[in-house]
Order: sequence, then structure tokens, then C-alpha cells
Amino acid sequence: MNIATKPVNVAAEAASLLDKLGVDKALYTGGDMVSFSPVTGEQIASLKTVSASEAAAKIEKADAAFRAWRLVPAPKRGELIRLLGEELRAHKTELGRLVSLEAGKIPSEGLGEVQEMIDICDFAVGLSRQLYGLTIATERPGHRMMETWHPLGVIGVISAFNFPVAVWAWNTALAIVCGNAVVWKPSEKTPLTALASQAILDRAIARFGDAPEGLSQVLIGDRTIGEVLVDHLKVPLVSATGSTRMGRDVGPRLAKRFARAILELGGNNGGIVCPSADLDMALRAIAFGAMGTAGQRCTTLRRLFVHDSVYDQLVPRLKKAYQSVSVGNPLESSALVGPLVDKAAFDNMQKALEEAKAHGGAITGGERVDLGYANGYYVKPALVEMPKQDGPVTEETFAPILYVMKYSDFDAALADHNAVGAGLSSSVFTLDLQEAERFLSPDGSDCGIANVNIGTSGAEIGGAFGGEKETGGGRESGSDAWRAYMRRATNTINYSKALPLAQGVSFDI
Ligand code: NAD
Repeated sequence: MNIATKPVNVAAEAASLLDKLGVDKALYTGGDMVSFSPVTGEQIASLKTVSASEAAAKIEKADAAFRAWRLVPAPKRGELIRLLGEELRAHKTELGRLVSLEAGKIPSEGLGEVQEMIDICDFAVGLSRQLYGLTIATERPGHRMMETWHPLGVIGVISAFNFPVAVWAWNTALAIVCGNAVVWKPSEKTPLTALASQAILDRAIARFGDAPEGLSQVLIGDRTIGEVLVDHLKVPLVSATGSTRMGRDVGPRLAKRFARAILELGGNNGGIVCPSADLDMALRAIAFGAMGTAGQRCTTLRRLFVHDSVYDQLVPRLKKAYQSVSVGNPLESSALVGPLVDKAAFDNMQKALEEAKAHGGAITGGERVDLGYANGYYVKPALVEMPKQDGPVTEETFAPILYVMKYSDFDAALADHNAVGAGLSSSVFTLDLQEAERFLSPDGSDCGIANVNIGTSGAEIGGAFGGEKETGGGRESGSDAWRAYMRRATNTINYSKALPLAQGVSFDI
């Protein structure tokens, strides 16, 4: 079902939301960078960009703020993030709507993204009293050895369009409680939600009272401004989320100046449906994983291996779901699938489908859905039955394409599952304990996220998020990801009157 809608004035609605969120109008009118809403394809704002020298000046300012902030006790720093969580709760509706407007997400996903920001704030507040170091046994009598965790510096955040606000919050909430300053280069496709997030944090900072000026800043600009952040010597860590292509440039540049990197790059996520799988459950998980967010999540399910004994039970039902899923304007309808971000995304999708066809793929869906917006790109999600994993199946296409392949041997399916460059998220659907455990074992899924009987997408705060291989190896948000935002010092204290050397070395003068 395609859902027809009444016309929506995206520019007027964006301006009204930005006003409610406290964003200065001068920041998004009369500027040199035009932003569009994927919902209708129309222009919504023209933003003022920063020059390279202005970006460098903001980084210097953030560095000065860091030098003061690192001396504030961590639990007090946590209070600022507690206030940020309060402000986000108070502005959840407006910010969630702006995410839908600017990134094209359906309302529950726009709101869900803000909820994720709130969740990471809660997590970080608790963490602000738990930045633990170890006390370590020493071989030297009368000595104590311990480790201390110190703030690191200015944390650079580069983010992608598809999670325009949550990724910033994942990094910022942890970075701030860890005693750092943050400079954020959001996607050029989603600058308004960045201005809104910064305005919300500014309100929390004002309530906090005495945080140093410049603690958190936004750089509006294209990738060249991202490069300023990547190359600046006063930025010891850059957390960069986006395509593997971006990571191939950013990773070596950071390595060259020995800066740290958290790289959160592309995924080509796979699932295996085994003979014993609960097919009703698998169907729902696959549908959300593959079609949700119009296939524009890094964790979107893109490759599905189905055992030949259940293929004919599952795949026809899946195809039916693909044919009947509602595609529509997320601002004005209850559609489950919103727009692609832009024409380039649509063209990439069509190109991949053509290639899949050339490799023997049989396609259900994939065609453009006309909602009357010349520059709004809505598509039917595509399910492509492939004879084998080949051609476009091995690469991420950031669009709703699910490649489905038949398998008969679990080991061979597992080998195919792991035989792609990316290593972000993965799922197995099985009620067989041996298959489930094997999938999670050292020679099972090679991804940073490996799930049993749930889909590849929809991670929650608490677990470390990230992936292996061409996904970049970074971990964010949960578990002990905070350590990346701090530097560790090992301290040995001699409280004896002697000076014994380790390893029995003697050096008597
Ligand atoms: P993109 O790579 O085009 O852009 C991401 C960001 O990087 C933007 O802010 C862009 O300006 C900046 N950038 C690009 N090249 C740069 C360079 N050389 N130096 C500095 N900055 C640079 O990605 P996109 O189209 O916005 O997002 C989609 C991609 O992001 C997909 O591949 C998706 O899988 C990935 N993604 C990954 C995760 C994850 O956590 N692993 C999360 C969301 C999105």
C-alpha cells in the first residue's frame, strides 16, 4: 500500500521546530549551504558554514575549555549530562519530529533516536561515578601499583546522515563525563538537527552554571571541514561514523599523527535462517531489519541465507510482506517505510538492482513510488533472490535491498556469511542450541554484533556498539567504551625506605 498524503510545508515546519528548540534563526537562513528534506525533496534551510580557519579557532577554544573541564570532579561533570537528559526529555517531541523531517525517518524512529540520546545520558551519569582504575599486585615490597584514568582532550565527532543526533549523543555524553570537550562535524545532509542538539545542550550548560565556554561546538560544513578536525593536533581522538570510503581516508590520516580513532563504518549485515527457526518470529525480525528506516541503517539486514528445507515456507511470505508494506510520507502518514535520503541514494539502489539482475537475481519490488514529489525519492523495498553471493551482494548499498540465498550446509552458510568486507551486525534464527552457540563462538559470526533470534538492527544502550574488518573496529556507547575517551596512567608508589628494582635487577651506586 502506498500512502497518499496532503502537502506539507517542510521549510515552515522546520523553522517552527527550530524556533521551539531555541536555535538562532541567523544560523540557518541566508547561508551558503542549502539543506533539503528527503520527505518532499524541497529546500528547508540555507546554513552558514564555517571556514577552515574558523573551524581551527573553534577547536582551539574547545581545547581551552577542556583544560578547565578536566579539573571538575567526574560526578559533577555527570550532573551536566543529567541536565542534558532532562532537556532532551522536555524536547523529545520537537527534536524527534525534526529528525523525521530532516532524515526522513518515520515518527516512532525519529522519537526512538531521541530516546536513545536520553538513554545514553542516563548511562553516562551512572558512569561518572564509575571511571574505575585497577590496583595491581606489585612484586616490589613496600610499593603500590595502580592505574588512573585521565581526561583526554578535544574529542572530534564526525557523523552520518542516518543517525543525525544519536551518534553525537553517544560520543558527547561519554566524552563530557570523561572530562573532555567535543567538536562535532555533522553530516552536511542533516545540519539542522545538529544545531538543535547543540541548542539543547547549551540550555543544559546554562542551567549547570559554570561550565567553561566552548565545551561543545558544532562545525557546519562539508567533508573538508571534517578534514580540519581529523588533521588538527589538538584533537587526540576522532570518532567518525559514515561510509567505509570515508574511514579509508580518515583512519590513515589519524594514524599518521598518532591520534586515536573510533571508526564506525559501513555494514553488510547477514542473517541465517536455520531449519528449526521460529519462522513467524524470523519473518517479523527480517522485515524490520531489512525494510525499517528504508534500509538506511548501518545495521540494516542486507543478506539472508535460508535453509532449503524452510525456504519455500519463508520466502513467499517475505515477498508478500515486501509487496504489502506501506511506503509514504513519514510526516503525514502511518507508513512504515519513508523516503531515501536523496536522488544519489535512489540511483545507487537502481544500479545495484541492475547488477544483481545481471548476476541472475530475481527481483521483487525496488521501483520508485510516486507520491507527487519531484525530488522526493520513495521506493518499494526490494527482495532479490540470488543464485549465490556474488556481485553487488558483497558490498553495502545504502538502500532497502535484501539479497536472499538458499543454503543446505550450516558451515558453508557461515563461511559465506563471513566472506564480505564489512563486519558490523549479524543474526541467526534457530532453536537448535548447537547452531546458536556455534554462531556466537570463535569460529562463528565474525561481526561486532552477533544475535540469536532477533534481527541485525535495533541495538540498545548498554552494549558496546561497533564492528570489525571494514566496519572499522570502533566501539561506542556501552560497556567499557568510555576508556577510549580517556588516557590511562600506570602509577607505582614506593612507600618503603628501600629501592628494590623489578625483575631482580641490581644497580648499586
Ligand atoms: P559519508 O561517509 O558520506 O559521510 C559521513 C560523514 O563523514 C559526513 O559528516 C561527511 O561530511 C564526513 N566525511 C566524508 N568524508 C570525509 C573525509 N575524508 N574526512 C572527514 N570527514 C569526511 O556517510 P553517509 O552517507 O552520511 O552515511 C551512510 C554511511 O554511514 C553508511 O555506509 C552506513 O553504514 C554508515 N554508518 C555507520 C554507522 C556505524 O555505527 N557503523 C552508523 C551510521 C552510519
